[in-house]
Amino acid sequence: IFIGMLLGILFGLVFKALFHSTEESSFIIFGMEFSAYGILIDGIFSTLGAIFISSLKMLVVPLVFVSLICGTSALADPTKLGRLGAKSVGLYVFTTGIAISFAISFAMLVGPGRGQEALATDAEFSANSAPSLSDVILNMFPSNPINSLAEGNMLQIIIFAVLFGVAMSLSGDAGKRLNSFFEDVNVIIMRLVTIIMNLAPYGVFVLMVKLFASTGMETIVQLAKYFFLLLALLIAHALITYPTLLKLFTGLSPVVLLKKMRDAALFAFSTSSSSATLPVTMETARNKLGVGKSVTSFTLPLGATINMDGTAIMQGVATVFIAQVYGVDLSSSDILMVVLTATLASIGTAGVPGVGLIMLAMVLTQVNLPVEGIALIIGVDRLLDMTRTVVNITGDCTVACIVAKSEGELNEDVFNDPNAGIKEE
Ligand code: ASP
Repeated sequence: IFIGMLLGILFGLVFKALFHSTEESSFIIFGMEFSAYGILIDGIFSTLGAIFISSLKMLVVPLVFVSLICGTSALADPTKLGRLGAKSVGLYVFTTGIAISFAISFAMLVGPGRGQEALATDAEFSANSAPSLSDVILNMFPSNPINSLAEGNMLQIIIFAVLFGVAMSLSGDAGKRLNSFFEDVNVIIMRLVTIIMNLAPYGVFVLMVKLFASTGMETIVQLAKYFFLLLALLIAHALITYPTLLKLFTGLSPVVLLKKMRDAALFAFSTSSSSATLPVTMETARNKLGVGKSVTSFTLPLGATINMDGTAIMQGVATVFIAQVYGVDLSSSDILMVVLTATLASIGTAGVPGVGLIMLAMVLTQVNLPVEGIALIIGVDRLLDMTRTVVNITGDCTVACIVAKSEGELNEDVFNDPNAGIKEE
């Protein structure tokens, strides 16, 4: 997968250097105009990349639904579910709080937007209105589960599957019969995940070619301070905060965790979507990290939906950056407001590409900053989105390991076995 990614980046950059754009790579055959760029990048690579992402997304709803039913219906102790929920949500909010606090502190210290006031003049951005908190909560409860499944509304699916699983566990023989059916379906879906993972090197290659052939790197130079500060904070959160928490709470080796997350991280990086990466994250947690079934099936889908530390970091740095560009001083109550709303915004952000930036509108509005500020950073967001998605899923897996360990659901032999889960399919 890594080789696929490197080759994809190289190929994409070479392609961009040679052909630049549709117009510059046009040629005429039999009086008809073709363009090498259009055919290859906008046509073939775009389509193949979209097929790869769709095939990952295709697995998400069935996988979450079925594995969560299996996980909850087999729980012998019903109070365990409450504990799992409380621990997972508590740790998710806690890690997001750390992330956003560090992000804002460093951003205030470094001042990525200081001296950049000239950027403020021509920004234009129209934001969709962000949902209110009560809407977010109300929206978690499905009125029609088939609709939730069809729309892929993760929180609604989680709630329905958990209730269904609990009801199954209370239904005696009928529940047991259905459980063995869902267990079989689960095995088959997991097999499908491994089949699609075998295609990953090609999928990642195609996505990288498309991205690097079509994205200009010029804006990064202009926004270098914002870009590199954010990148450094994202990397630090993944390589310092999570390892420290894992060591502190479980005594497990963070190096093992990070090494085993490699494939999932590459998926997250190339798809920019924690939701599309979820099947791979679940496979990694279960087979490589030894996280038990009920934790994998509950904590990870929840995390892919509500735990977005990378996104919160971006929102913190971006808010400070935009305030500085527009010459607005943030008071300490503003900063507290940013911490709170960015935590909520990251919870409300769906695990799909670029949504974090849209939810930033909610944070900016809360502290009376111009939403047009988003236009300033949109040009450099793609690469940052890819990186923060990696951070988001690393956070999910770290919390899953901590919760599993505390519930006696972590198989440490699997966790410590360097070859676990790397069997030939
Ligand atoms: N792309 C991110 C994710 O899926 C969300 C975001 O920050 O836009 O995790």
